Amino acid sequence: MPEHKKKNVVGVSYKTVNVAGEAGDASPSTPIGVNLPNANWIRAEVGSKSVSLGNIINAYNNSGSSGRLKEFVHDDQEYELEKKHGQLADKLHTALHEVVGHASGQLNPGVGETKETLKNYASTLEEGRADLVGLYYLYDSKLQELGLVEDWKAVGMAAFDGYIRNGLMTQLIRLELGDDVEEAHMRNRQWVSAWAFEKGQKDNVIEKVTRDGKTYFNINDYDKLHELFGQLLRETQRIKSEGDFKAVQALVEGYGVKVDQAIHAEVLERNKQFKSAPYGGFVNPVLEPVTDENGEITAINVNYAKDFKSQMLYYSKHYNFLPNVN
Ligand SMILES: [Zn+2]
Repeated sequence: MPEHKKKNVVGVSYKTVNVAGEAGDASPSTPIGVNLPNANWIRAEVGSKSVSLGNIINAYNNSGSSGRLKEFVHDDQEYELEKKHGQLADKLHTALHEVVGHASGQLNPGVGETKETLKNYASTLEEGRADLVGLYYLYDSKLQELGLVEDWKAVGMAAFDGYIRNGLMTQLIRLELGDDVEEAHMRNRQWVSAWAFEKGQKDNVIEKVTRDGKTYFNINDYDKLHELFGQLLRETQRIKSEGDFKAVQALVEGYGVKVDQAIHAEVLERNKQFKSAPYGGFVNPVLEPVTDENGEITAINVNYAKDFKSQMLYYSKHYNFLPNVN
């Protein structure tokens, strides 16, 4: 809505860095991008900064095999689109999520920060809002006009396919049967996907297909799905701008928390054949200074730990004096 759009966009920047090592909250499982600050009043006055973690994204994109993808795509077209455009679609979605997504929109005058108004749903609403900005603007010829993609429609379709496949099915491999979705990003991927699936049902926008006892979600109408994402983006921005707790609670509890038990059991069963773990983690390089006879550092050697376990045991042996502040 016009009143929820930021009047002047200031100080937006996006940089890609290569990560040498991580600690604290970011290790061993890492974000792929960071947008700060969180406080909306600072964003409004001086803007925000986004950093993309380039080598992390690259590592994720090139790990694992395509077996799991083959298992969960509906058809060859979906598989080929993902193979050809999936990586670029992912990168652009992350960039749009961080830079345009988190940086966009404004609160209504007198409405407090979302952690006060939306409470425990603030984080998942904000992540969903940023995802929706990304999805909405990915499927747009403007990206081609800017020279970012060669075929905007194919990239947009790959992005929509991947998002729905993950939000309604594949992310469930991370949960045990019977568990609710708890993590903010996983919740938002489910409420965005499940809301779009339900609202598009009368026009068969996303079709639930059963074939040989296996379930697939196939997108029949990408233009209509784009419209639905736009509607939900408008609504999530309204919820944020107005601080509408009742609406965010209904959205998240209604679409983002409970899991379809039959589909979950099926996904876990179909995933059993694949070895790669549902979550990625990273080992940190050990940075070792090389000094000359005067004790000046002349170089840094980058050594790699043998494996995850030995690194964790090394940390616990050498740094266990550090306080646990969880
Ligand atoms: Zn985010």
